[in-house]
Amino acid sequence: MKIYIFADLEGISGVSSSAFVTADGAKYGLGCKFITRDVNICAKACLEAGADEVIVRDGHGAGNSILWENLIPGIRLVQGHTPGERFSGIEEADAVILLGYHAMAGTPRALMEHTFSSKSIQNMWVNGELAGEFAIDTIIAGEHGLPVIMTSGCDKLCQEARAFSPDVVTCQVKISTGQQGAIMLSPDASEKLLREKTFEAIAAFKEGRIKPMTLEKEAVLRIEYMERCEPALGLVAPRTVELTGPTLEEAFFRRF
Ligand SMILES: [Zn+2]
Repeated sequence: MKIYIFADLEGISGVSSSAFVTADGAKYGLGCKFITRDVNICAKACLEAGADEVIVRDGHGAGNSILWENLIPGIRLVQGHTPGERFSGIEEADAVILLGYHAMAGTPRALMEHTFSSKSIQNMWVNGELAGEFAIDTIIAGEHGLPVIMTSGCDKLCQEARAFSPDVVTCQVKISTGQQGAIMLSPDASEKLLREKTFEAIAAFKEGRIKPMTLEKEAVLRIEYMERCEPALGLVAPRTVELTGPTLEEAFFRRF
């Protein structure tokens, strides 16, 4: 059994504002340390629960936040650009964990809520339903035949995840107090919770209780930008494009 962890930074334990997640942020060095810590805790639990290997996608920004030299044995790390692929190396894996995720753009009082770009994207819809990164990545993983078995982040992310995928195991490591603030668990409590939830997710996966999610028909991805766009592929309104594809992953990469 191989587990694929896609790690974002906003929902990682100990991260409470943009200062931790932007490359020039005053606390970015700590953000890198904290994402490496949560990845190690989750991966260690996966290995203890029977995984032979854990593949970790460093998924925040340009994909270079995880401190490679500090990873525990048994992790294969994917960093940097992977054009046309959201989950590079996923074909070898059996299940996916979305670690350190955040709520979709526009979620009230949610820590660093956004959908792929806080600077340029207002909203995204998949086949008519508002969708954040959790839903989009859950569908893309499903298109590869894999279930998303667990996610971690703030209370609003966990609520969004359960609304979209009722069987997913959610690990709430903080409560958002606003776009730039959170009430956080202590380091030891977040470690304990991440371990417990990882074991719970792998047990549920082994029992076949979490199924891959896919779309029933072709994918239509609608993106509303904050500013008017240049006339481009799929422009349906001055600020909105619609991209279609046989899979959501293909529709997604028509734009990115
Ligand atoms: Zn991110």
